[in-house]
Amino acid sequence: MHQRGWLSSNNIVFIDSEREATVVDAGYVTHREQTVELLRHSIGARRLARLINTHCHSDHIGGNAALARAFGCAIAIPEGEAANVRAWDEEALHLASFGQRCERFAFDSTLAPGATLGMGGIAWQAIAAPGHDMEALVFHAPEEDILISGDALWEDGFGVLFPELFGEPGLAATRATLDTIARLAPRVVIPGHGRAFGEVDAALERAYARLEAFERDPEKLARNAFRVLVVFHILDRQAVTLEAVAALLAGTSFFAALNERSYRLAPAALADRLVRELTASGALRIDGELVRPG
Ligand SMILES: [Zn+2]
Repeated sequence: MHQRGWLSSNNIVFIDSEREATVVDAGYVTHREQTVELLRHSIGARRLARLINTHCHSDHIGGNAALARAFGCAIAIPEGEAANVRAWDEEALHLASFGQRCERFAFDSTLAPGATLGMGGIAWQAIAAPGHDMEALVFHAPEEDILISGDALWEDGFGVLFPELFGEPGLAATRATLDTIARLAPRVVIPGHGRAFGEVDAALERAYARLEAFERDPEKLARNAFRVLVVFHILDRQAVTLEAVAALLAGTSFFAALNERSYRLAPAALADRLVRELTASGALRIDGELVRPG
């Protein structure tokens, strides 16, 4: 596995045979050259035959087009995302509306919950894992007791529960997904971000506690989404002015709607407040006129 930072998802590489390899998830678009290089290094002379996405967020699909160009790999995405990707619906894919970018790609096939596939000589089953993304899949290898969890379960938490903020039952779905993972009781989890981990019970306990905090106070969810997306945007651009943060908050539909719901502040005041909170927590830092990742 290539463990990446927070802007890019991990790339989980499987050597299928002497000749072929498969990768799960492709990182963010600004890291695409690095992703191609990492893959080249890990698969050697083999052909990258397949690229499979756990879900279609920009930090998991950003390298899809570049990997297809470099290796000619076939791309498989979750069935539920097919229409959005085919039409390249930037709103539905949360690109423009989140202030994020992605290079358009074409997919070759889709994976539905229940599908089975071989990767690295191991049999995997695709399982629905809604919550952070309603169409997301996780991949479980019953014989090896391993779970590829995407953003449904990390060692400490899970991805922002965006669907709940769009009026979908994201909290309930997350509970069901955590219950599913608890029932599978994998020995090892390979997440979309962070290192692979073995103490799955402890991770589930933290995830349930986090979920309960959101269930008790759904406002926390909106504030969490704001913080994560602002940091993500600044990781993407590396350095922005406070005015640019305010423009992002005012000019993207998701931020505007969320501000209306949660903060009801003028964009400049909200930018100031968020950047102040995020510099206090160490997620961002101020460098003269610029805001940079912490
Ligand atoms: Zn995600």
